[in-house]
Amino acid sequence: MNPNDILKKAANGERLTPAAGLELYAEGDHEAMLAVAHQLRLQRTDPAVVTYLVDRNINYTNVCTTDCQFCSFYRIPGHSESYVLGKHEIGAKVEELLAWGGTRILMQGGHHPDLRIEWYEEMLRWLKSTYPEIELDCFSPSEIENIAHIENMSMETVLERLHEAGLDGLPGGGAEILDDDVRKRISPKKTETEVWLHAMRIAQRLGMVTSATMVIGFGETLEQRVASLTRLRDLQDESLAAHGNGFTAFIMWTAQLSETNSMGRSRHRHKYGANFDEYLHTNAFTRIYLDNFSNLQASWPTQGLDTARRALTAGANDFGSTMLEENVVSQAAAYTEREPRMSVHRLHEQIRQAGFVPAQRDSRYCIVRNFDHAMSQEELAPRPIPTRLDVTQAPVASS
Ligand code: SF4
Repeated sequence: MNPNDILKKAANGERLTPAAGLELYAEGDHEAMLAVAHQLRLQRTDPAVVTYLVDRNINYTNVCTTDCQFCSFYRIPGHSESYVLGKHEIGAKVEELLAWGGTRILMQGGHHPDLRIEWYEEMLRWLKSTYPEIELDCFSPSEIENIAHIENMSMETVLERLHEAGLDGLPGGGAEILDDDVRKRISPKKTETEVWLHAMRIAQRLGMVTSATMVIGFGETLEQRVASLTRLRDLQDESLAAHGNGFTAFIMWTAQLSETNSMGRSRHRHKYGANFDEYLHTNAFTRIYLDNFSNLQASWPTQGLDTARRALTAGANDFGSTMLEENVVSQAAAYTEREPRMSVHRLHEQIRQAGFVPAQRDSRYCIVRNFDHAMSQEELAPRPIPTRLDVTQAPVASS
């Protein structure tokens, strides 16, 4: 079928088959796709508002044994720069987040070969009891698989125990491209496609918050990208039908390459990465193709503010988060900011410049606060809170 006809079908709300999707993605008119994606976004979410989250990433350890080729963050066990954060360090980060009016931490780390499940349970229980207002979206399917492997347990048991200890959500990190040929090439020791999907299926059955992700620019084909999206769309159908709890959002960004990771040093480097047009085209395509996802995030830390703002009129309805801290993408050569960190005031400015009203949300996309009127930097500045840390207790950290 002609790509224009396929686009018309999609604009009328018809689901695209993988073959039609691929045809549109490969041959569709770029500007027309951006326009249709924006129309669909206006229909599926509040048309006046762009949402965002006040949160921070906390990387509890950089110790990892998985050696993904695109990763500049990890250190092998015993490395002089390896670390595992203790309660005091994590607690201090949470308190800084609370001062900013934050509602969630996204805590992820490498695949540490020695941390036992009790370490994770203890940390979650302590965080939940000390900071009950903070949502704990932590780990990723591959970290769950790592714990299951260490403990010789099923992923189901691991997730049930961590959920019981306070885990609210399982973020969709580590999906990259859900195609095993791509995964074997770029991260041969990491979670296979079916295992990633299975971890998410379990988390959704347990009622947890989950997100879906895709990273483009690993030299994968368009067919492999569409196949990855089809797997996410299928699981979304399955989980919504079974428990009414699917992925809350889809987030896509481009591979970040640098001289500090082996893909960045590869002689095939010219085949990797994706430019801003390809990012926007893919952003629009995913809004069109993923017809059972409500929320699509623009990724300012990887694409820069101009492209991320443009994405808000090309399918995206959410500006991600303030990211008071981020250590993984920023270890590689993100196009724009070495240290992704944005004040709430600056984030509001971006959303208003794109023509929308900013609204702070939680991780389930429930609105925490609408900002109909512009507020000053001072009004949106952080308000320090009294510490809840037991300062008489020595911080616990190791590597
Ligand atoms: S991406 Fe994650 S799993 Fe892969 S090497 Fe880095 S920390 Fe380890």
